[in-house]
Amino acid sequence: QLKKKLKKIFKMQVNSNNVTYENGFIQASYQYKSSNVEKLENGTLKVTPKTTEYTFKTNTKVPKLGIMLVGWGGNNGTTFTAGLLANKMKLSWFTKRGEQTANYYGSITQASTIKVGCSGSEEVYLPMNQVLPLVNPDDVVIGGWDISALNLSQAMKRAQVLEYNLIEKLDPYMRDMVPKKAIYYEDFIAANQKTRADNILEGHNKLEHLETIRKDIREFKAANNCDKVIVLWTANTERFCQLTPGVHDTAENVLKAIENSEAEISASTVYAVATILEGCSYINGSPQNTLVPGVIELAKQKDVFIVGDDFKSGQTKIKTSLVDFLVSAGIKPQSIVSYNHLGNNDGKNLSSEKQFKSKELSKKSCVDDITGSNKILYPETNKIDHEIVIKYVPYTGDSKKAMDEYLSEIFLGGQHTLVLYNVCEDSLLAAPIILDLILITELFERIEYKVDGMRTFQRFNRVLSTLGYLCKAPLTDENTPLVNSLYRQKSALDNIFKACAGLHADDNLLLEFKCP
Ligand code: NAD
Repeated sequence: QLKKKLKKIFKMQVNSNNVTYENGFIQASYQYKSSNVEKLENGTLKVTPKTTEYTFKTNTKVPKLGIMLVGWGGNNGTTFTAGLLANKMKLSWFTKRGEQTANYYGSITQASTIKVGCSGSEEVYLPMNQVLPLVNPDDVVIGGWDISALNLSQAMKRAQVLEYNLIEKLDPYMRDMVPKKAIYYEDFIAANQKTRADNILEGHNKLEHLETIRKDIREFKAANNCDKVIVLWTANTERFCQLTPGVHDTAENVLKAIENSEAEISASTVYAVATILEGCSYINGSPQNTLVPGVIELAKQKDVFIVGDDFKSGQTKIKTSLVDFLVSAGIKPQSIVSYNHLGNNDGKNLSSEKQFKSKELSKKSCVDDITGSNKILYPETNKIDHEIVIKYVPYTGDSKKAMDEYLSEIFLGGQHTLVLYNVCEDSLLAAPIILDLILITELFERIEYKVDGMRTFQRFNRVLSTLGYLCKAPLTDENTPLVNSLYRQKSALDNIFKACAGLHADDNLLLEFKCP
């Protein structure tokens, strides 16, 4: 009923000569204002503001979407599937606190709003999924692979994330969902995962594995009548592959290396290449370097999107807003120490040194651009003391504890200490992020742009860095600035939605009230 009410209240039509709604497309022209900076020899910065005309064209026809998860039977995979089913069927269940109904808290597409303007002195906000047309999560089809053969209902019980009464209600719907056989290269994930690897593709021929995954994607798409499929990695964190010239550097070499079953081609890279060759977008939810330069080149050649790396769910989300706040307030963070302990299978995998290293790198690099933005605080180096500790404590289960200490230097040499204790079911944070990553990637597949002088419409850069808000270590194309600040990432995402819908970017000036 609430959904119905929301639909009734909110509907946007932009009243402007810059926007047209025709033949199933929203076409909007947008003036992008930026500035070129020249560093002159005398130490002066010469700043030249410029305006560039863009036209964005969004196809409003929402496709039937198939989602394939690598690691479907894991904590995230099962929680994501259960969450979508619970919402679709409008389930409610009992917990010790009373009756709970399904919701999408934690998903920006389903539960956040974007300011569209003012009505008198009232600021008016619209749900993100009503600013531009997104796939409705009720309508997607889910499938995927796992090295463990458990069906999704058994796997959901193994995960120990959801309330028992909800599990009981979902059991009949998830019992028949069975993961496809997966690629398993032992050396890439922790040895402690071996005991669950009873659903794997045979042999060591990587080209055969690639072909099987491609066939799986095609069959899944056809069997479910999908218009398109998106593949997302939510399997265990792999160790980094050792980047080798002649193996990972070009699209041609990656394909050759798969043919030759090169040892340093990871399982995740084979999934990514198979996905790209099938013309589908690929999203990497873990920290490892799946998307090597040759895979990026292949994605560009095949005109598909890639997104990565590593879901930004808890500690890093806070870190990239807190450090942004401190540095922009003129306060100098000097050290950050992050302790995590968790007891789920992710934690078990990360208790192995090589896999921990992938996570450590992803967690550590997230404040560098923020400290680098302030030469008053960091005149020489912007590197601060930043330590990451992760411990596997089985009894804590999926309820991850994160403890962070931030030490900063303040006025006249004073010291400022901030300590945070963050407790949360890890997969209940990750599942809505998985949904957002997929739905926004799908939307971006339907958007094209033209800029001054271009004859034909183009698609966004195939390395979709706009989704950095949802990623711990955002993958960017070469010569693209890396942005980790949570606020900047969210405002860029909101403003791209607004630009495509024909609205101005929000600069929060509210001049009509300040200069009445
Ligand atoms: P999980 O261990 O519960 O699930 C991973 C699943 O992947 C398992 O079922 C495993 O059997 C399967 N798997 C392993 N190798 C595979 C392969 N080659 N092919 C197919 N399946 C394979 O872990 P999780 O808690 O669901 O997390 C999944 C990933 O997401 C981890 O890498 C984790 O680091 C990352 N991540 C999670 C969060 C979070 O908040 N939960 C945040 C950021 C990143």
